[in-house]
Amino acid sequence: MAHGVTWLPTFMPVATQAAIKGLTYQQMEELGVTLILNNTYHLNLRPGMKVIQEAGGAHKFQGWRKNLLTDSGGFQLVSLSKFTKITEEGALFASPFTGEPTLLTPEESMSIQHTIGADIIMQLDDVVPSLTTGPRVEEAMWRSVRWLDRCIAQHKKTGQQHQNLFAIIQGGLNEELRRICLNEMVKRKDSVAGYAIGGLSGGEAKGPRYSMGIGFAEDLLVCIALGVDMADCVFPTRTARFGVALTRKGAVNLHSRNALDLKKYRYDMDVIEEDCPCPTCRVKTSKAFLHHNIGIETAAAHALTQHNVVFQARLMGDVRDAILKDEFPIFLKNFFKTYYDDFKSYPRWIVNALRSVSVDLLEEDLSYSILDEEGVKWDRAAK
Ligand SMILES: [Zn+2]
Repeated sequence: MAHGVTWLPTFMPVATQAAIKGLTYQQMEELGVTLILNNTYHLNLRPGMKVIQEAGGAHKFQGWRKNLLTDSGGFQLVSLSKFTKITEEGALFASPFTGEPTLLTPEESMSIQHTIGADIIMQLDDVVPSLTTGPRVEEAMWRSVRWLDRCIAQHKKTGQQHQNLFAIIQGGLNEELRRICLNEMVKRKDSVAGYAIGGLSGGEAKGPRYSMGIGFAEDLLVCIALGVDMADCVFPTRTARFGVALTRKGAVNLHSRNALDLKKYRYDMDVIEEDCPCPTCRVKTSKAFLHHNIGIETAAAHALTQHNVVFQARLMGDVRDAILKDEFPIFLKNFFKTYYDDFKSYPRWIVNALRSVSVDLLEEDLSYSILDEEGVKWDRAAK
């Protein structure tokens, strides 16, 4: 992309208001992060497009030199606004300032994102809550296809050369509608750079396939196994501020006021993860220090945020290596073995989801190693 290479799969930290909570952009760059997310709805409200335009785009405004993705603004609008009415023209909502009815059209969403200047921009879609059923789901799906066409037309008219437009697949939990939507959107592949999975729990997205709002390590790994390349979530940075460190053995709540944990962490002089390359672990910051300061000193929040951002980035890097070596199934098995103490505590949905792509977490790995030794390549289809 215009602001450098981003390797897939990737996890994108979220800078809702043009700031990563707890870290500076210089730190983000040094940690090796190459793609972050800004929220269009929030930037449009504050500081507003006049300021962004004056700055020459959101990259310059916030001092971020790597790649940037913006959403369409539609999802926040539907979830945060007091009233939103969807018409064919666009989404009608109450202005948070004046209460006046204001219309966000696909063209308007594009032109705001053109001003922001992100490297990846999202179409405006018609979002329905994932539990909605009936004709509304199909209506929203077809409208999202029509709005994609309007976004493509507007993007061709005023878009910047470097900006990649992503489509958002709708259709609720109805597989057939999802398939129809996907087929329609793939027909536009000459004008679309990627596909997002929308309308699940938040503002999801997937083509590169981009899954919006996914942040737990276990969710990320399952989504990647099912074909997702990109995901974003505020989870790793938010949870850091509450004192939770992400590790390959599961999350550790260092802020816990649980009597047992109090004793445990007060004297715990170990680092969060011995082999972690993050600045916090590298200088041997103890869990006792973090436990003592989290929620009190901002330095503790910075330290944990750095660890969590690196944790996600390193996990994605290891997944990438495993995929390139054709060892992803075995990587998944090893990961979950470490992540959950006992296979009996594997969540059923994870086991089932991975079985759908022929990775059986509960099966002994004998077949893999024997086949491998004989020089027969492990093959999904053959299984
Ligand atoms: Zn660390």
